[in-house]
Amino acid sequence: MDKGMLVVLSGPSGSGKGTVLKEFLKDEDFGLSVSATSRKPRPGDEEGVTYFFKTREEFEEMIKNDEFFEYAQFGGNYYGTPKKYVLDQINNGKNIILEIEVQGAMQVKKAVPDAVLIFMTTPDITVLRERLEGRQTEEQEVVDQRIEIALSEIEYLNCYDYLVVNDDLEKTVEDLKTVVEKAREKKRNNNEFIKKFKGEN
Ligand code: ADP
Ligand code: 5GP
Repeated sequence: MDKGMLVVLSGPSGSGKGTVLKEFLKDEDFGLSVSATSRKPRPGDEEGVTYFFKTREEFEEMIKNDEFFEYAQFGGNYYGTPKKYVLDQINNGKNIILEIEVQGAMQVKKAVPDAVLIFMTTPDITVLRERLEGRQTEEQEVVDQRIEIALSEIEYLNCYDYLVVNDDLEKTVEDLKTVVEKAREKKRNNNEFIKKFKGEN
């Protein structure tokens, strides 16, 4: 059986990853990995749905037990992708999408070179600030910190396969679908070619 496709979606906090993914997943056959984090739940969060919420000690125990596919610290908290779900799904031919920040994405790229890396952002930093402030889920200090982080995250853009700019929401959802389809087609064509090359067709 062919392995499933592994897609990584990164981008500054407030760029709209969660909003766009929710729409994308209504139409696309992808499993969304639920991460573990040591940050405190915020309005709208749900245990086991948006995250598995852990104490720092619990998270560090999971690191020790090698339970993460990747993990990183962001804004003073741990975030990580539990290994078992992702590997089980991919090995069973299921497509998986990870919504993770850039350090984790670089770990995935190293471990799974054919993962598809997509970077999503607002058109510029001013819109990013407006969206983060408009979301009203973080204190001003945390918003400022996330804006600072965004300015370093954008420098990773060239490490990604695709850029999706989230201006108009509907268009962004379509753009994400298009990019994923392009990546799927490339993989399909390459696999066909490999078979043909080996004389297996
Ligand atoms: P992220 O998951 O990347 O942190 P969110 O999905 O929480 O970002 O989006 C941040 C805020 O921006 C939310 O309040 C969301 O409703 C809003 N938002 C997302 N996409 C758009 C868009 N295309 N136009 C206007 N507002 C948007
Ligand atoms: P938030 O606190 O807004 O939910 O997430 C902050 C950042 O952590 C976002 O950029 C999000 O993509 C990232 N993130 C969420 N889960 C993971 C994860 O499992 N691993 C890594 N490396 N980053 C994550």
